[in-house]
Amino acid sequence: MEIAIIAHDGKKAEMVQFLNEHQAVFHQKEITLISTGTTGKKVKKAGFDVLRMLSGPLGGDAQIAARVAEGKCKMVIFFRDPLEKHPHEPDVLMLMRLCDVHDVPLATNLASAELFINALKTS
Ligand code: PGA
Repeated sequence: MEIAIIAHDGKKAEMVQFLNEHQAVFHQKEITLISTGTTGKKVKKAGFDVLRMLSGPLGGDAQIAARVAEGKCKMVIFFRDPLEKHPHEPDVLMLMRLCDVHDVPLATNLASAELFINALKTS
């Protein structure tokens, strides 16, 4: 199962903490992590295998959106920072829209990410 992990800069520390807290889930061999570029560097540094796309502002969110549309990516966990402006907001909106189009679970904050991971643990 391919899961996308993305974090805006203001949320990257929270994202790493989340991964570490749930490392038993994310180290399962059935799970493939994909990330936007800078997020992916942090994911790798934290000790997880990850397929890195371009950095978000350079098209990484759009690449992940394409994988959602193609049916490859089955879950998106996006630690969004609602208090900052982002030049690639149109790409982020596209990603969220395509999750809705293709009925792919999308968590945009820590509380919903936790619920998703708990659901994975019980499935
Ligand atoms: P980044 O992109 O992982 O390259 O920082 C994330 C984003 O802002 O969409």
